Amino acid sequence: MEALLEGLNEAQRAPVLQKDGAMMVIAGAGSGKTRVLTMRIAYLMQQGVDAFNILSLTFTNKAAREMKTRIGSIVGNSEAKNLWMGTFHSVFAKILRIEGHHLGFPPNFTIYDSQDSQRLISAIIKEMGLDKDIYKYKQVHSRISSFKNSLITVKAYFQNPELMEADAMAKKPRIGEIYKEYVDRCFKAGAMDFDDLLLRTNELLARFPEVLAKYQKRFQYILVDEYQDTNHSQYLIVKALADRYQNICVVGDDSQSIYAFRGANINNILNYQRDYDDVKVYRLEQNYRSTKNIVEAANSVIEHNKTKLDKVVWTANDDGPKIIVHRSLTDGEEGRYVASNIFETKMNNQLQHSDFAILYRTNAQSRAMEDALRKREIPYRIFGGLSFYQRKEIKDVLAYLRILVNPNDEEALKRVINYPARGIGATTLDRLVIAAKQYDRSIFEVMENIQHLDIKINSSTKNKLYNFVNMIHSFKILSENADAFAVAETVARKTGLLQELKKDGTPEGIARIENIEELLNGMRDFVEGQKEIADATGSLSEFLEDVALATDMDKDIDDVDRVSLMTIHLAKGLEFPYVYIVGLEEDLFPSGMSMNTRSELEEERRLFYVALTRAEKQAYLTYTESRYRWGKLIDAEPSRFIEEINEQYLDIQTPMDNYRYKPMIDTDIFGEPDKSKLRLKKPVSGSAPTVGKPTEDQLRKLRKLRPQSTSQPQTDDLNGNLSKGMRVEHSRFGHGEVIGIEGVGQDQKAEINFQTGGIKKLLLRFAKLKIL
Ligand code: ATP
Ligand code: MG
Repeated sequence: MEALLEGLNEAQRAPVLQKDGAMMVIAGAGSGKTRVLTMRIAYLMQQGVDAFNILSLTFTNKAAREMKTRIGSIVGNSEAKNLWMGTFHSVFAKILRIEGHHLGFPPNFTIYDSQDSQRLISAIIKEMGLDKDIYKYKQVHSRISSFKNSLITVKAYFQNPELMEADAMAKKPRIGEIYKEYVDRCFKAGAMDFDDLLLRTNELLARFPEVLAKYQKRFQYILVDEYQDTNHSQYLIVKALADRYQNICVVGDDSQSIYAFRGANINNILNYQRDYDDVKVYRLEQNYRSTKNIVEAANSVIEHNKTKLDKVVWTANDDGPKIIVHRSLTDGEEGRYVASNIFETKMNNQLQHSDFAILYRTNAQSRAMEDALRKREIPYRIFGGLSFYQRKEIKDVLAYLRILVNPNDEEALKRVINYPARGIGATTLDRLVIAAKQYDRSIFEVMENIQHLDIKINSSTKNKLYNFVNMIHSFKILSENADAFAVAETVARKTGLLQELKKDGTPEGIARIENIEELLNGMRDFVEGQKEIADATGSLSEFLEDVALATDMDKDIDDVDRVSLMTIHLAKGLEFPYVYIVGLEEDLFPSGMSMNTRSELEEERRLFYVALTRAEKQAYLTYTESRYRWGKLIDAEPSRFIEEINEQYLDIQTPMDNYRYKPMIDTDIFGEPDKSKLRLKKPVSGSAPTVGKPTEDQLRKLRKLRPQSTSQPQTDDLNGNLSKGMRVEHSRFGHGEVIGIEGVGQDQKAEINFQTGGIKKLLLRFAKLKIL
């Protein structure tokens, strides 16, 4: 026990040592919140609490595994294995497998990923004969998802005139009907979507007091990491389960709440003290993760938020180097800068690739980074985006496997009923869907009985359906005795999937075959791994459960040492010695879609705070002058967040360094100038690469970025008294007329109609405009 406490400072020990009662640890980034949770669990176990009685909810399954390993090293692995630990979704999926029958779900229910949900919604919209340009399936999906996360059931929806009116006003009066049909169809297919895992858990605990009592008794100690990002549905589950013993410990940081767009409710943390008796609140102040420069820079940015709890974050670590701010002309150049920098920093300091992370606001930004890393032969791994399991060929194999476990799984069936082609066309499928409705059966059940039913399908097609059903049955028999790997291998061969791709013969086809091989390799490892777990067998259903819940973050990192690329949302809770935050431009970060209200902007700022506080030794902030967005080259302005950092923590690189670093022209894979690109390149006004003395234009751009005192709103002298109708001149865009002014202080923007460039919105703090 001494050893356990040795790794904690005094403030961290207090919540570890308080065995019982409700408590909350509120503290800034890197102050050891996650460490406190881990040690608290180890300590409880040392005090004799049974691992079976502890429930710990984390942000990713990967984090749960790491905590488990750590705890295992203190209290022994065999004990640690019994802990209930994981994301909300994985823990409650497990409970729903056991208890779902109360709600009419089979224990082997399928978990629909968002692609499955969207396909189903899109099919329903079509079946109902609605205009798909008005009822956009993605929007409808997110609306339904938001209902579910606020626990608005179909019934509740139809009892709520305000909601119905809002949808009617948005010209989508039939949302409620789509919602109802979607819920019915999922139920009939024996499927739950991601939101259901929480919604149905709530339903289960609310409707079946004996089930609630069982789990209340079981989970005597509950711990929640990243509490600031729990949504209403998660909040209610925790509250219900903790009600009996009230031994609940939540940790979080209001400054890192970044999931409001998905329904996370920061009030959960602010109101915590009201929810439980005698809540003890602990604060941690010392950051162990980052250098002084990084900690203080992050503090100086988050200061700009009005809505926040007062917190102190300091560190005893060294000052460290200043944060490097780097400007490039294009995203290609930005990528090359980052790649070169990683290459050199790694060489000079004898580091691993895994010491580096590149963080961005949107997934699309990864491409330029990937290209640059590939050219320098730097291994990398992308988290998020189109994950391995989202690829078409992988989803095809998985769809077959899903049908074996749950034949009622409608989305899986539709995906492969005619792939590879076996002459079962769209009309046949439509007839099957109608028959399924008519007989109140699943499509597969209709197919099983196709020979005896009166359906308008000709006998040759009936035969084809019969053959398909037979094939699935034979796989199913196999799956009852064989492990997941053996079944999948047979499926890939016998269905003709592999042959189909081989026939294709294109490089893409070959890459697809390799991906399927990769899937099979992964399954083999999985089956091996399951052998170590007490009551696991390596069966197909265990594998599918694992895949359905694997967020991209959870994929096991292989042995290869790689640079990590991910969105900032996914980086929460992680740390890396060297962090590059790229694309720091207005309208990208902060996102153009999140600048309408102060609260949206504050969420973007918290996101920036999360990004910056991932860095241990050195942070880099990069931005470009122009960027392709939606297929067009757009002029970009540096993000306000750079300017919000107190200047003393920044090292703003001169354009000279920039150009010495790399030639500005694109190079091909052999490092030679890529002539085709050279010709296509748009002439860049005013900032041609030069070696030697900076030009006036470069100096001006450099000055533009120099941070000024940050807390007071300021208007640039040049832009003072700007008003509608004035004619102005801009260095890059030329002459134009002011057609509107909006916002105040720091956020003030002018909408200007430029003679050649068209209408642009410029942030006045940055835009150097000359009034004519
Ligand atoms: P975040 O808000 O980003 O999730 P956190 O508050 O959860 O951060 P941790 O990840 O627990 O912080 O800790 C940050 C780093 O500091 C980790 O590398 C951790 O091991 C280390 N650390 C925490 N407490 C101590 C301590 N008392 N002594 C030494 N290192 C510590
Ligand atoms: Mg943490």
